[in-house]
Amino acid sequence: MQISMVDLKGQYLKIKPEIDGAIQSVVDSCAFINGLPVGTFAADLESYTGARHVIPVANGTDALQIALMALRLQPGDEVIVPSFTYIASAEVVALLGLVPVMVDVDYHSFNITVANIQKAVTSKTKAIIPVHLFGQSCPMEEILKLAEADGLFVVEDNAQAIGSVYTFSDGRQLQTGTMGHFGCISFFPTKNLGCMGDGGALLTNNDELAFRAKMIACHGQSKKYIHDVVGCNSRLDTIQAAILSVKLHHLNNYIHIRQQAAKRYYKGLSEVKSIVLPYREPFSTHVFHQFTLKVIDGKRDELRTYLAAQGIPSMIYYPLPLQRQNAFMGIAREGEEPTISELLSRQVLSLPMHTELTEEIQAYIINKIRKYDGR
Ligand SMILES: *Cc1c(COP(=O)(O)O)cnc(C)c1O
Repeated sequence: MQISMVDLKGQYLKIKPEIDGAIQSVVDSCAFINGLPVGTFAADLESYTGARHVIPVANGTDALQIALMALRLQPGDEVIVPSFTYIASAEVVALLGLVPVMVDVDYHSFNITVANIQKAVTSKTKAIIPVHLFGQSCPMEEILKLAEADGLFVVEDNAQAIGSVYTFSDGRQLQTGTMGHFGCISFFPTKNLGCMGDGGALLTNNDELAFRAKMIACHGQSKKYIHDVVGCNSRLDTIQAAILSVKLHHLNNYIHIRQQAAKRYYKGLSEVKSIVLPYREPFSTHVFHQFTLKVIDGKRDELRTYLAAQGIPSMIYYPLPLQRQNAFMGIAREGEEPTISELLSRQVLSLPMHTELTEEIQAYIINKIRKYDGR
């Protein structure tokens, strides 16, 4: 039995004729740059997410960068990001000469907290980047309320949570990525909606911001060879767009399969004393980009080694809070100690989670973790 963290090959083989046909049609058309499939996919994703505008770009990191550029943030402006996330969320802030302010997260949900954001806001703060980590929404209603009161922009990093649904206290439901000024998505192959190379998109409901983002992604061009602002070159490849339209039709099924797999982990691991299972927020669905345990009593690395010896891979997302990364030394504004993030980086362990995970493989993983626990 070969166990992997993700199984892109297995996923591809199930829809091979559809994918191959989509790729071949782009090759036949030779419309490699901004071919029709790019616009088609943008429209498909608008109807899937409910966002008014989708701007396809080259990758998720570019989506974040372009969002911050479209908001006209100025060097020295402060942007609040969680300390427990992938580097890209804060890297773009620093790259633009803005000041990343990392704030600690919630121990249970791994997500940024409103109280910590509140403590970090100064007169220089211009934006917040909530990251819907591992597939579950941040507390968006409170974040949006705070942002509105303080006149801050909200850029959702939705790289890991496409398809996740947030429920407001009045019962209104919106997808993650569609609540802030921008939502940024990555189609990196291992993301829940992955293409076969790099890809990304911005979501926004604001016409003017959509126009600016589109312009910035295309060399700041407003009309052919007329450039209004300094932009960049960030395009979703036509072949990737064609692949994504095919895979978007399967996304709800992919999410369902992940949720079923999560259910089996919850059930099988519920009595394991040395671990804490992923916390579920009452206001959000969970699309389980990752199934991330917390291993208590300092036994994380021991469990990981034990699992590896049984042929079970696992990963540590993330081993270091952002303010401990050398890249941000002297760049990030010193804030509170990332006490919780630090603790999480010593406790987290992500188990194999993907659309091809079988009950048989999960039973094996569950059985081994139980055995470890009972020693
Ligand atoms: C994957 C990811 C990104 C970046 O996406 P790329 O397409 O690889 O550039 C940004 N933020 C988070 C939280 C991610 O997981």
